[in-house]
Amino acid sequence: MIPASFEYARAGSLREVLNALAAKDGTKLVAGGHSLIPMLKFRLAQPARLLDIAHIAELRGVSEYRRGARIGAGTTYRELMESDILRERFPLIGEVCRTIGDLQVRNRGTIGGAVAHADPASDMPAVLIVLDALINVRSKRGKRAIEARDFFQGAFTTALVEDELLTDIILPPSPRGAGSAYVSFAQAASGYAIVAAAAIVARTRKTVSHVEVALTGLGDVAHRVESTRQLVGTKAEPEVLDKVAAEAAAGIEIQGDIHAPAEYRRHLTAVAVRRALDAALARAR
Ligand SMILES: Cc1cc2nc3c(=O)[nH]c(=O)nc-3n(C[C@H](O)[C@H](O)[C@H](O)COP(=O)(O)OP(=O)(O)OC[C@H]3O[C@@H](n4cnc5c(N)ncnc54)[C@H](O)[C@@H]3O)c2cc1C
Repeated sequence: MIPASFEYARAGSLREVLNALAAKDGTKLVAGGHSLIPMLKFRLAQPARLLDIAHIAELRGVSEYRRGARIGAGTTYRELMESDILRERFPLIGEVCRTIGDLQVRNRGTIGGAVAHADPASDMPAVLIVLDALINVRSKRGKRAIEARDFFQGAFTTALVEDELLTDIILPPSPRGAGSAYVSFAQAASGYAIVAAAAIVARTRKTVSHVEVALTGLGDVAHRVESTRQLVGTKAEPEVLDKVAAEAAAGIEIQGDIHAPAEYRRHLTAVAVRRALDAALARAR
């Protein structure tokens, strides 16, 4: 399909972007374009004007931040995979990026674009939830920091409001010696998750002291798994892991589609959670 006509401009500064968003004149931001351009082609979006934010230096790159990391919203998956800070402190980020799309998607797609778009099957929301990320947004009215677990509100729906720009994502330091893993049962053609689980686990001696697991692909939004709390204080015995995995989808409204019916997704959820926990526990020091 051919998109409806639109104006195009390349933003030169953050101020220009914030002014354009404040004007509420139908301007739509474009970063890598990997989600937005297909929407324009299907005419699911018909903005009057595209403002390209891909060249704004303040939005790019990964840096140290209070023993954790700060990731600019315009940082591509490729840049995330190549970051030494993330490789050392948050290996989960590189692990998930390797599962996303293909070379072109990873070279152009940005973390901010993925997070703002909030596709229900996208990989990054579950990862940001288990890492306890803070999502920083800015408008001419001021700045806000939103916890990842509150940011994703539904299919293609987030806490961002019309005049806000997602500027960066803060990853606080993970618990000492934590191990993490991402297990995705992906749809073969796109790589999008049918069901995927992100897990992070820490142990004090042999006892589990911290655990977070989140799921994507099941329903219209990424979910934090409540049943994993039962692991804290245990030595992660196989029967406890089995129970936690079996209960992982409790309370989640699972949706079926052409790729997998709801019952199959329910089954995959238990498998993905168990495998992600096993791998994270094996990596925990
Ligand atoms: C073939 C293909 C395969 C894919 N496979 C996967 C996969 O396996 N897993 C997965 O998770 N994803 C997958 N994706 C999706 C991909 O991750 C996203 O399309 C991409 O990361 C979006 O980033 P972008 O920079 O291209 O966003 P854009 O398309 O430029 O923008 C997306 C939306 O976010 C808004 N936006 C962008 N940046 C900001 C910002 N800083 N502040 C506020 N709003 C902003 C835009 O206005 C737009 O509404 C795939 C995409 C394609 C095309």
